Amino acid sequence: MAIHIRPIKAFKDNYIWTLINDSNNQAIVVDPGQAEPVMAYLEIHDLDLTAIWITHHHMDHTGGVAELQQSYPMTHIVAHSEHGVRMDQSVKDGSSVNAWGYSAQVWEVAGHTQSHLAYLLDIESQKHVFCGDTLFSGGCGRVFTGTIEELYNSFERLKKLPDETLFYPAHEYTADNLRFGLSIEPNNEAIRHSLLEATKNVERGIASLPVTLAHEKQVNVFMRPDMADTIEGVSRQVSLVDTKPLTVFAALRELKNNF
Ligand SMILES: [Zn+2]
Repeated sequence: MAIHIRPIKAFKDNYIWTLINDSNNQAIVVDPGQAEPVMAYLEIHDLDLTAIWITHHHMDHTGGVAELQQSYPMTHIVAHSEHGVRMDQSVKDGSSVNAWGYSAQVWEVAGHTQSHLAYLLDIESQKHVFCGDTLFSGGCGRVFTGTIEELYNSFERLKKLPDETLFYPAHEYTADNLRFGLSIEPNNEAIRHSLLEATKNVERGIASLPVTLAHEKQVNVFMRPDMADTIEGVSRQVSLVDTKPLTVFAALRELKNNF
């Protein structure tokens, strides 16, 4: 059985990540903010929608659920009880979800919102993490209904995964985030190189995602609040009361809000 993971574009820069099972032409989508692009994709590729997984309650992640449920009544909807969708399976931290015999662990990775979930799908020892708006390549989500401490703790938890773990964020924010990263770490060659790559790919209509954890540790300043170069870069722009990783992480988020 071969499973492919492809992005369906929605709105301006959302990705609706789609798991496709070649052996039975079934698909699972994560965070369908819009129904139309999903239905068009399923039609073109002759796929049947069997499940929807939701990471958090924002409309650009849930707006297409009701319409998809109507068109595909057998769709199994997986969400947290606070996500505001009619679901078939209520999940929270510690739950697990099934995808054609493969298992996805559910983690709460709050911060962007309360009850924000990530789905950690394990396919033959390779982890694929659908992380919504918690982690972006080169950045992190804004703090809305969660707290900066929660977001920091979510990052610390994700950092403990194996280096080859693949992340599938829900937005194409990579180039903008990397430009911010360079404003903090102007001598970081990995960020500079990734910015060139991401810009080139996005111009050609290719997603800059997924990305590995090893890559993010090099280019994502929010993964690097304990690194001397990051601390120095933040200190050049704001005065820090201390250099604890949480303090640096919070200062980075504030700086990015105004970047
Ligand atoms: Zn969001």
